[in-house]
Amino acid sequence: MLLYNTLTRKKETFKPLKAKRVGLYTCGPTVYNYAHIGNLRTYIFEDILERTLIFSGYAVNRVMNITDVGHLTSDADTGEDKLEKEAKEEKKSVWDIARFYTQAFFHDLELLNIRIPKHIGAATDFVPQQLDLIQKLFKNGYAYETSNAVYFDTGKFKDYTKLSRQNIKDLSVGVRDEVIEDPEKRNPADFALWFKLVGKFKNHIMRWKSPWGEGFPGWHIECSAISTSFLGQPFDIHTGGIDHIPVHHTNEIAQSEGAYHKPLAIYWMHGEFLVLKDSRMGKSLGNFITLKTLMDNGFHPMHYRYFVLMAHYRSPLTFTWEALDGARIGYEKLKNNIQTLFSEPADFPKTEFSEKPVLEFSKKFKEALFDDLNTASALGALQLFLKLCNTLLETKDINASFLLKAQKAVREADRVLGLNLFEETEEIPSHIGHMVKEREIYRGNKQFTQADALRKKLDALGYVVEDTPKGARVRKK
Ligand code: AMP
Ligand code: ZN
Repeated sequence: MLLYNTLTRKKETFKPLKAKRVGLYTCGPTVYNYAHIGNLRTYIFEDILERTLIFSGYAVNRVMNITDVGHLTSDADTGEDKLEKEAKEEKKSVWDIARFYTQAFFHDLELLNIRIPKHIGAATDFVPQQLDLIQKLFKNGYAYETSNAVYFDTGKFKDYTKLSRQNIKDLSVGVRDEVIEDPEKRNPADFALWFKLVGKFKNHIMRWKSPWGEGFPGWHIECSAISTSFLGQPFDIHTGGIDHIPVHHTNEIAQSEGAYHKPLAIYWMHGEFLVLKDSRMGKSLGNFITLKTLMDNGFHPMHYRYFVLMAHYRSPLTFTWEALDGARIGYEKLKNNIQTLFSEPADFPKTEFSEKPVLEFSKKFKEALFDDLNTASALGALQLFLKLCNTLLETKDINASFLLKAQKAVREADRVLGLNLFEETEEIPSHIGHMVKEREIYRGNKQFTQADALRKKLDALGYVVEDTPKGARVRKK
């Protein structure tokens, strides 16, 4: 199997450290808000990676962290703690925020048929391991203390930018503005391992005792501590979105290698971004699209999964409603095709029939996925094979045993792609989704007469709307 390794900038033949077992670490969400569909694209890519490894016969030991402390509003250690900021805005406890959005995250994974990793570790449950790692860094001369925080000394670490291949000088310029945050920092690129409860963090709620006074961990140290706790060091594959290359993963490598003098992971894989046509996706920009937004507009989560799989994970993907609608049509067509084809009564004459096309399809499908997870090409192979089956069926040039074998091969393909092609989906047409959304806007504006009129209209069309604490849900009567 070939996988693209960001560290070497090459597609490499994958060889795990231990035969038949793969240690996989995938950076998880910062649980201060719902995941947006960009985040979810990355989790779909990682799910395909895990399923492909299983398909090729490996047992996968997958670990994911949940960031519930220490991720500041700027990745460069400035600003406020994202969770504490959200807690203030929502007037909830920071623990409630973490619990609520963690649950919402797992709900999204379930809807998208993303496998839940075997081990999940919340940053706040791994503080002793993080403290232990920081102490190792002190012992090895990579950590230092200022009046505000404990930092990693990037000046002491050889090859600090080996993953991003950035020039360290450019990096220093890039973070120059942030230097003023702590004038005692030795190098502009140095990053926090531990924040002390001083200045803007005086009243930080999440806090733990440490040899450097009460405080809380920086964002990057949790991944170094959690990955190594479950998988040892080195482990096989580490993944995330491309934004993690220059800061988060660069810092994880520095910490873990500084502590243990051996590589953190052998293969580093990164998913490209989902982008909007003209802008970045952001809560403040009012274009923060979640899975629920898609569902409210009449799409099924599988339509989004299919949309994502039609592109290669290393290519940027532009989201538009038109493109998603195209994916919906493509997905439903594929599914109908499969369901019709394999529900045909198998009463053909018992003639001999070559199984070669089935074997060829399985081979092509596998080759596509084993070529750095080329899901688009795997789907192409599936579509061609179904077309062939249809033609054979029309000409009755097929027998029951062929159809059974074909069905088995398609089921296997579906298991790897996770598209639930053999299951019924309840499709909500997009005009119904639009009406539900319009009704939500009326309700938000307290225009209840208009909202009720829309509910009645939906009812007449055969749809029931339920108002839940998470917003309106629509289903067929
Ligand atoms: P966060 O919750 O911000 O830590 O991000 C969770 C995951 O989503 C990380 O692996 C990010 O690299 C990834 N990510 C963030 N924005 C996007 C995007 N627009 N498209 C794809 N992945 C993203
Ligand atoms: Zn991480």
